[in-house]
Order: sequence, then C-alpha cells, then structure tokens
Amino acid sequence: MRVVMKFGGSSLADADRTLKAVDVIGGREGGEVVVVVSALQSVTDGLMELASDAAAGAEVDRLEAEIEGLKKRHLAVAGDVVTDDRKRRDLTGVIHKQFEELRNLVFAVNHLGELTGRSRDYVMSFGERLSSSILSAALDASGLNSAVLWGDDLGIVTDSSFGAAEPDMDASRENLTNNLLPRLERGETPVAVGYVAQNERGITTTLGRGGSDYSASIIGAAIEADEIWIWTDVDGVMTCDPRLVDEAHTIPVLSYREAMEVSFFGAEVIHPKTIKPAMDADIPVYVKNTFNPSGEGTKIIREHERIEDVVKAVTTVDYVALVNISGVGMIGAPGVAARAFSSLGDAGVNIMMISTGSSESTISMVINEDDLRRAESALDGEFRDGVVEDVSAVEDVAVVTVVGAGMAGTPGIAGRVFSTLGDAGVNIIMISQGSSEYNISFVVRKEDEAAAVKVLHDEFGLSELGTKARTG
Ligand code: ADP
Ligand code: ASP
Ligand code: MG
Repeated sequence: MRVVMKFGGSSLADADRTLKAVDVIGGREGGEVVVVVSALQSVTDGLMELASDAAAGAEVDRLEAEIEGLKKRHLAVAGDVVTDDRKRRDLTGVIHKQFEELRNLVFAVNHLGELTGRSRDYVMSFGERLSSSILSAALDASGLNSAVLWGDDLGIVTDSSFGAAEPDMDASRENLTNNLLPRLERGETPVAVGYVAQNERGITTTLGRGGSDYSASIIGAAIEADEIWIWTDVDGVMTCDPRLVDEAHTIPVLSYREAMEVSFFGAEVIHPKTIKPAMDADIPVYVKNTFNPSGEGTKIIREHERIEDVVKAVTTVDYVALVNISGVGMIGAPGVAARAFSSLGDAGVNIMMISTGSSESTISMVINEDDLRRAESALDGEFRDGVVEDVSAVEDVAVVTVVGAGMAGTPGIAGRVFSTLGDAGVNIIMISQGSSEYNISFVVRKEDEAAAVKVLHDEFGLSELGTKARTG
C-alpha cells in the first residue's frame, strides 16, 4: 500500500503535536509513505508579515526581532523532538543555516525597498523548508530512514505565477516518480515540502495559501498512490465550519464533486485545487484528525452516497465584496458582461460568483475584498462610454453556500433555503446556483452570516447527525 500523508500546520504547531504526527507515520510501518508538510502553524503568516515589513522599510531592530522570534520557535520544537545530542546538533545546525539565508534575503528586500512576487515566494518557502527538516529529523530519531525533499530533489515544476503557481503535471510526474520511487523502494520515508515548488528555471514558487494539500494530491497522482491522507485538527470535512456552529458534524463520505464545491465555497480544511489530481487518478482522499487518529474521518471518492437529507454541508466565504454594475443602457446591449469580465480579468481580479438581474440592467459579482478598489477602477475605465451608469460596491458581506449532490433534481430546496432565511430575518443580497445544481450560494451581510449558517444547518437536519466531531 502506497500512501501520501499531509500534515497541516496545526498538526505541527509544537513538539507534542509533531510527535503525534511521528506516531501516526510510524504506525504505517510496512507500507510506503510519502509525507508532505505545511509550515508550523502561523509561521507562513509571520513570514508574510516579515517580507512586507522589510519591503516597507521597517527598522533593522524590528526585522531582527521578527526573525529571532521565528527562529526561537523552530529551535524550541527541534530541541524537544530530537533528544539525541548529535542528531539535535545536526538539526539545529540546519535551522541556523536556513535562518542565515532568510536573514540575508530579508535585508536584501529591505535595502531594495521592493518585494516582487518572486522574492515573496522565496521568503514564504522557509516555513515548509524548516518544518520538513524538523519532522524528518524527528522521524529519523524514531528509527525511520527519512530525508527532506524540496526543489530539484522533489521535482514539482510550475509556471511562474508567483503566489499561485500552476503545476506542469507531465514534467512534475516524471520528476516525482524518478525522485520518490527509488527512495520508497529503499524503505525510506521521504518528507516533502508542501506549498513550495519551482519553475522550470529552478526559481522558487508557491501554490497559493493552504496549498500543501494540493502538493499532496499532485504527488499522490504522480506516484500512483493508493490513498492520500490529509491530517488536520478536526475530524474531517464537517457539515459546517465548527467555529461557527457547535453542532457541526463530520461528513463520512463525499464525492469528489461535492468535496470540490465544499472547499471552493469555503471549507478551508481542504484546498480547492486538491481534488482534481486525485479525481483524475481516481485516488481516494481521507481527511483525518491527528488528535483523534482512530476516528473515521471523511472519505472522498468517486461514488457518492445519496442521503435522504440532500444538503450535506453549509459553508461560508469571508473577506469578499460585491460589485454591481447597472444602467438602463445595459438592457439589450450585447457584450456588456463580456467587457466587465475581461476588464476584471485584465486587472487580475478573480470573480467568484456572478448574478444578473432579469431586466438585464444589473450585473453583480462577488470578488475578494482586497481586489475591490482595483475592480472599481477597472470597471470605471472600461465603461467610460456610458453603457454602464453606475459601479457600486457592498462591503462587509459573506457568501453562504449549501452543498450536496442530492440537491440535483430534488425540487423545493431553494424554496426551503429562502423561507428558512426569511423566517430568521436574514436578508439575501444576491443569489447564484451552479449549473451542476450541487450548490446554491447567496450573499448576506457579514453580521447575518453565523445566523444564516445555524438556521440552515438546523433546517436540513445536519445538527442531529451522529456524534459531534472532536476538534484539536
Ligand atoms: P491545516 O493546518 O491542517 O491545513 P486548516 O486550518 O487549513 O488546517 O483547515 C482546518 C480548519 O478548517 C479547521 O480547524 C476548521 O476550523 C476549518 N473549517 C472551515 N470549514 C470547515 C468544514 N466545513 N469542515 C472542517 N473544517 C472546516
Ligand atoms: N503554509 C502554507 C500556508 O499557510 C501552506 C499550507 O498551510 O497549506 O498557507
Ligand atoms: Mg490547510
């Protein structure tokens, strides 16, 4: 049995948790395991802040303090997970060297006063480079033969879209099989960096925030793994974000399509791009809790169980904004939507949801709130001809989505959704349904988000399922 196991930042947040991960990996003795890691919890955020501070001209003392804080944290975990003196010295030597490289980079950015996508990705890569060194040393200390793999030694090749790079699957597959299979045959347990890759010239890239899950499925598909396991801090993919509703429960089985929808519409427990490589290679993906390894978790597979209650999950996306374009000139005018979408595309603004008024005089689009100013100015520029009279925005909103394959062809779901929200006094600002009918998404005010999730979770019977999942 060949398994790829990915450990999230929460599973590596401190020494205790790292040792739990070591136990889980060790428990698979006999089979082939490739480990994929995220950075220690919150380290990627810390690196991002460090890079921005450096570029913004922060004082040297402040940058030194930030670097020192990150270094202390890694050295503390390293010291606790490897007890053998010589092995610990080797590991701390590696960590000191990595921080020297990071420090040089940060001060180069500070001198230049400029942070390119390329240098940002280079800074961000240190989180996974450090965590993989620690976990690999901990595995080695537990008696497994382990090695850290990143860059050329790993071989995930991407384009040069720094910050959200896309893999070249053919080139990556060739490299990954050449690099990993001989190691597995030798009985090694390789630890690969998640999230970090490189372009064809060997320049470091990253796959986008939360992208270690994606790395795991790219690797799993390339080496034809039997299973991909995503180890995290909750019992699996749940019926809603457990931070919003106490009665959230683990969903035992999801189809690939459902998992895609759930993750795209906000269940951050799996990165939305994770499913495609696994689905193409027909590899089951399990989502499990490092703090409750014997729990069943969630199994994501091709077949899906149609359950009587057709809605399987209620998800949310925050940090979004709504932009509307309107004007009587839009009625019957061809190409307005195409112009709006391509001007936003040219400005690098991703549109998450679209809805048009039936009178054709409005088009509403949900975008990332950070892109709002850019979107408004792109639309203002595009429609100087007056076809669009008004470009307006609604901020402090959230997208709420109900997901389930059983919704397709089941009449009355939308009606139940909207009357439930109406009864709860939640105002719906915009509605959109995917053509797959696997989801209905709508926009509500941020202040109504938690109530909307709660009442829908109750309405579709999700609050009564099974026993509550344990969280880390
Ligand atoms: P990791 O560090 O393991 O990658 P993440 O923080 O990226 O973990 O994702 C796990 C978190 O996702 C959970 O702790 C939970 O708060 C959040 N989450 C949001 N929606 C869901 C959902 N529907 N099911 C499970 N977890 C969810
Ligand atoms: N460490 C990266 C992040 O925080 C990738 C990941 O966690 O999957 O975004
Ligand atoms: Mg994650």
